[in-house]
Amino acid sequence: MDKDKILVIDDSAVQTEFLCSILKDDYELAVCHTAEEGLSAAKEGGFSLILLDVVMPGMDGFMLLRELKATVLTKHIPVILLTSLADIQYEERGLLLGAVDYVTKPFSPVIIRARVNTHIQLFRYQMQYREQAMVDELTGVANRRRYESESAARWQEAVRFGLPFTICMFDIDKFKLYNDTFGHPAGDKVISTVAQKVSSFFWRATDLFARYGGEEFVAVFVGSEARPSYEFMKTIRQAVEDLHIPHSSPVSQWVTVSIGGVTVVPKLGEQLETYLKSADAMLYDAKRLGRNRVVWSDHNTEQWRED
Ligand SMILES: [Mg+2]
Repeated sequence: MDKDKILVIDDSAVQTEFLCSILKDDYELAVCHTAEEGLSAAKEGGFSLILLDVVMPGMDGFMLLRELKATVLTKHIPVILLTSLADIQYEERGLLLGAVDYVTKPFSPVIIRARVNTHIQLFRYQMQYREQAMVDELTGVANRRRYESESAARWQEAVRFGLPFTICMFDIDKFKLYNDTFGHPAGDKVISTVAQKVSSFFWRATDLFARYGGEEFVAVFVGSEARPSYEFMKTIRQAVEDLHIPHSSPVSQWVTVSIGGVTVVPKLGEQLETYLKSADAMLYDAKRLGRNRVVWSDHNTEQWRED
């Protein structure tokens, strides 16, 4: 098993060296000496714990903690505050802002190790729980497993009530090129940002939007006809482009998505899988036609596509 990664943010090199000497055998450590560097490092992901100094010039530990807890990419990472301020008010403030624990300088190696081990263990349990809770770790949207179970339920409802059923696939355009150009942490950020944006459109209780894998997403909803569903997806595609995340691809200067979908009124005996394949074929067409577009079918006579 890989070592868990810990991010140490403290303006004092003496303190960070001391902490690293205590923890380096058991953990992989990254060190930042300002809150600003710490924030961007934390967003790059992969950390199981943050050790955060309270008193730093510029942005202090409390400000950074508030920022970390307000950021989708970092809010689940536990934070232990490090301080020499042996004052109950500071401890209260830190805990209220969402720190999981608090250690006071000068550090005792035994206490540091024990508290770090405890919170790393709790973080692992939390991750297991989130996996079982069917949430995709990177994006916070539904994961593949939840898609598998919920799409079947939506499909059954549509069959039972004779409602139009929509399934569509999304793909971030030229994502491999993005990763190659900007690096994997930036790529992860793009996946997460696009997922948040698209997911904000699927707010109804019966909507399902999930990460299907890699840079692919799937959405399922019930009750809209083919044409309005197509129009809805065009709005979403445009909203992603309007995020204006720089890309350097032949498709666009911005990060964009291709979307393919179908809307059908399912009949008894038909399989959801058939329409997932159709949606995937529409997505393939959207890519073949130049990407950053929506291609839609009613699985009968009509097909819509953006030029
Ligand atoms: Mg300090």
